[in-house]
Order: sequence, then structure tokens, then C-alpha cells
Amino acid sequence: MAYRIQFERLGGPEVLARVDCEPGAPGAGELRLRQHAVGLNFIDVYVRTGLYPVPVLPSSLGTEGAAVVEAVGSGVSGFKPGDRVAYATGPLGAYGDVRVMPAAHVVHLPEGISFEQGAAIMLKGLTVWYLLRKTHRAQAGETVLWHAAAGGVGLLACQWARALGVRLIGVAGSAAKAGLARTHGAWAVIDSSRENVVQRVLELTEGRKLPVVYDSVGKATWETSLDCLAPFGLMVSFGNASGPVSGVNLGILAQKGSLYVTRPTLGTYVARRDQLEEGSRELFEQVLSGAVKVEIGQRFALADAGKAHAALESRATTGSTVLVP
Ligand code: NDP
Repeated sequence: MAYRIQFERLGGPEVLARVDCEPGAPGAGELRLRQHAVGLNFIDVYVRTGLYPVPVLPSSLGTEGAAVVEAVGSGVSGFKPGDRVAYATGPLGAYGDVRVMPAAHVVHLPEGISFEQGAAIMLKGLTVWYLLRKTHRAQAGETVLWHAAAGGVGLLACQWARALGVRLIGVAGSAAKAGLARTHGAWAVIDSSRENVVQRVLELTEGRKLPVVYDSVGKATWETSLDCLAPFGLMVSFGNASGPVSGVNLGILAQKGSLYVTRPTLGTYVARRDQLEEGSRELFEQVLSGAVKVEIGQRFALADAGKAHAALESRATTGSTVLVP
């Protein structure tokens, strides 16, 4: 019997429960996948708590995984049973040992990338791809700020930025985390537990401040991030780890120097198949070339997903976290 992790009510990690299920045969346009590794993401926390609402309860969870194709529905081309695959978008339901999902979200996983590595990079790595390559096309020699630099998205960003010649200033919540960001390619690091971020940015840029800030912490760092931007700078607010940014008076962008702000999400950037394939190809190239090494900071059994959520929310994790079915 197959199983999945689901929740019947919104709440803390304790609402996650393992239930038996029967995924069934794939319908038209779908694949049935035997999952080998599942990626843990902060987005899963937002879904579980209701910040990102689910249509019905009970609900399954999870959007990132690496798997083998077990069965192919009608009308699907390009996939056959036995193919190694991975995905980062699509309907919730990655938290299971077997699942059915639309083939449109699935890509082939290269031989040189393991299932665990695939589950560790698909969503987080595609996020770094679009943030550094599309939202703002970061240039060699440019300096940017990146919050949560020792996290799952963060350690991939440090390395990809280094590969592009971008000077990434990483913000992290402890000396140990700051050290990790540094060894993964951050040009400079700020330990936010004991250093003033704006002050350090002024020092590091000799008063010029920055063209771009990448902020996934949200509420707690909104104003700090704006204060790190040079006139006409771009604030990329792409997450809510400390809570969502809300109630913003747009006038603050004028006061702080005619700033720009965007609140991007991966789904928009890989909405078309050619976009998903472009991003995946660039991501896999970075990993296969060795420019980006996949840092799996911790592994949990999928059945222990609640423990993994608690660790992520309490800032106890570094790098990517993989759930093993
Ligand atoms: P991380 O591994 O980065 O974990 C979150 C980190 O945020 C923590 O480790 C912690 O690092 C930092 N943090 C700061 N304040 C808090 C707080 N109050 N509570 C918890 N954590 C806090 O997670 P992910 O790699 O999964 O995701 C990183 C971010 O990127 C998330 O905000 C996520 O929503 C966002 N994201 C956005 C996407 C998009 O397309 N918009 C796609 C994918 C991810 P420290 O202790 O160093 O401060």
C-alpha cells in the first residue's frame, strides 16, 4: 500500500500525519512516479500553516521531488517507465512514496545527479536561476545582498553567484552559518546575530550601497533591506520566513531613493515548458560542472516530516533538507 503525508487542519508540525493511499493509474497527460527523495521547502510550512491557502482539507503537501516513472498516461510523450525524473512545481503531493502528477511539470534528471541531489536542488536551484538570471540579470563584478545565505536556497545562491562573478554579501543568523556561506562562495558575510546589516553594507560598499537585495526573510528585514539599496535599486522580496510583508506605504520607496520592488514566484518563471527546460538545463549544468555543489545539510524519513518542519522553522537547518520515503 502506498502512503502520503497529509494534514486535516492548519497548524504546527504536529498536524502532519501519515496515511495509506491508492494513487491509482495516471490519467491523460499524467505520470505515476515512484519517489526516491522529496525536497523540504519553507513553502511547505506556509501551506501547512495556511499562509498559502489550500483548496480543500485534508490536503497533501510538497512540490519538489526526484523519482522514477512507473506508468505513463495517455497523450504523454517524452517519458517512459524507468526514466529518472525530477520536478519543482505542480499540484501539492510530493510528500508520498508514490504519486500521480501532470507530465508538464516533470523533467529528466541527468545520470550524474542522484535522486537526493535532485530533490535538494529542483525548487531551490530553479529559484536561484530565475532570481540571478531573470528577475535581475546579475553581472560579473556586481555586488548584491542575499538573506538566509546558509539556507537551502542560500547556499545554492552563494555558489551560483560566485560562478557568475557576482559578489554576493550573505546574511546569516550565526557565526557558524556565516562561515558556511563564506565557504560556499559568498564574497562577504554578515552575522545578523551580532552585526548591523546596514552598517556592514555601507562599510563593504564604501558608502555606495547596493543595486539589488534578495530578501526571503520578509517582515523582519523589509526596512533593513530597503536601507541597503542605492538609489533606483531593486528590492526582490521572495519569501516570508519571518512573516509576510504587508501594509506597505508605497511612499517609502520614494523616500529611500526611487526604489523598485518585486515579489516574484517560481511558478511565473517556469510557466511555459521552454522556460522550465531552460532553467533546468542551466541548473543541471552548474551542478554537473562542479560550480554548484549540492549541500544536503540534513535528511529525515518522510514519515518524520513533522520533525523536519520543526527543524526548518526553528532555523536549525543549513543547506537543503531531503525527506526519504
Ligand atoms: P531556508 O533553508 O533558507 O530556511 C529559512 C531561513 O530563513 C532560516 O534558516 C533562517 O536563516 C532564516 N530566517 C530568518 N528569520 C527567520 C524566522 N523568523 N523564522 C525562520 N527562519 C528565519 O529555507 P528555504 O531554502 O526552503 O527557502 C528560503 C526562502 O526562499 C523562504 O523564505 C522561501 O519561502 C523562499 N522561496 C521563495 C520562492 C519564490 O519563488 N518566491 C521559491 C523558493 C523559496 P538564518 O538563521 O541564517 O537567518
